Amino acid sequence: MRVPYTAFKIKNAPIRQKLIQAFEQVIDSGHYIQGPNCAAFEQEFALFCGSPFASGTSNGTDSLHLILRAMGIGLGDEVITAPNSFIASASTIALVGATPVFVDVTEDLNIDPYKIEQAITSRTKAIIPIHLTGRPAKMLEINNIANKYNLFVLEDAAQSVGAKLKGKRVGSWGDAASFSLHPLKNLHAFGDAGIITTKNANLIERFNISKNHGLKNRDQCDFWSFNCRLDELQAALLRIQLQELEHWTEERRELAFRYNELLKPYVKVPEEGLDEYHVFQTYVVLAENRDELQKFLRDNGVEALVHYPTPIHMQPAAAGLNYKPNDFPVTQQLSKRIMSLPLYPGLTHEQQDLVAELISTFYKK
Ligand SMILES: *Cc1c(COP(=O)(O)O)cnc(C)c1O
Repeated sequence: MRVPYTAFKIKNAPIRQKLIQAFEQVIDSGHYIQGPNCAAFEQEFALFCGSPFASGTSNGTDSLHLILRAMGIGLGDEVITAPNSFIASASTIALVGATPVFVDVTEDLNIDPYKIEQAITSRTKAIIPIHLTGRPAKMLEINNIANKYNLFVLEDAAQSVGAKLKGKRVGSWGDAASFSLHPLKNLHAFGDAGIITTKNANLIERFNISKNHGLKNRDQCDFWSFNCRLDELQAALLRIQLQELEHWTEERRELAFRYNELLKPYVKVPEEGLDEYHVFQTYVVLAENRDELQKFLRDNGVEALVHYPTPIHMQPAAAGLNYKPNDFPVTQQLSKRIMSLPLYPGLTHEQQDLVAELISTFYKK
């Protein structure tokens, strides 16, 4: 028995016919860019998140980049974020000409709200909290600080579609939020795609022009910009998946809590805090001798991954920011212990039991 990190075929099987039908409908419609499926998906997604507006995009990275631009953030500005995320949370800050300013995380892998204030300067314009692994960040505390210093809050919700804090979904907490619909995310396209949400009517208008060449209408270009639109074909397929998302998420959660029971004698298992609804985009444990354990699992057919082994402040691309490894001690220590185990709709109890058995064998050696 093997336990691969993903199993798309199993997950797609029950909706395969619907997907093919939608695919054929778009092909026959002749409407491939900004068509009715894009508009419908945006409406359905906004409703799902409990946010007034949504706008489909080419991917999560373009979304973050264009929201920062639409917020007017650029040269000389600073934006606060966490160093343990996927690189796009910080690269997009640099791409608009601003400076990423990192703040350490706590053991929940999300930004430590009690360390944010000391990183704020007169140049700070925004905070990008990341809801990493599917667990919501501490949005009450973060929004309070943002209000006090008049900062934008941009949720990087790439890993957390459907997650809730106090019953309110991510994507409805900040000024705007960015979701990736990459195949490894809980709601995904068959290729690259993304979507943003916001409660700000001016921001959505500016964003919609930004993702479409700066065109206010067919013939008038207000400012130079990019082409970062969502494909009609992907939107049609995403609408079908959005209908499945809640029961997929419930299955992920059941499997995650089952893993927790099996694994808690051996590793630190992920928690769900009070008032949180965790969607477990990644199931991340904290393990001693992580590298050896990962190798042992792989040698025995279990594909475990690390998200992410090198924190962003230690990437070659970040050299110009002049950070040292121990500037963020929690991030640094966690990067040596985190390990993502296979978790997806369709993972069997037998597969989970095998993972647990291997982990127990490893620590008894
Ligand atoms: C996946 C991801 C992104 C980037 O999304 P893409 O669609 O791959 O461009 C950004 N931030 C986080 C936290 C992510 O996990």
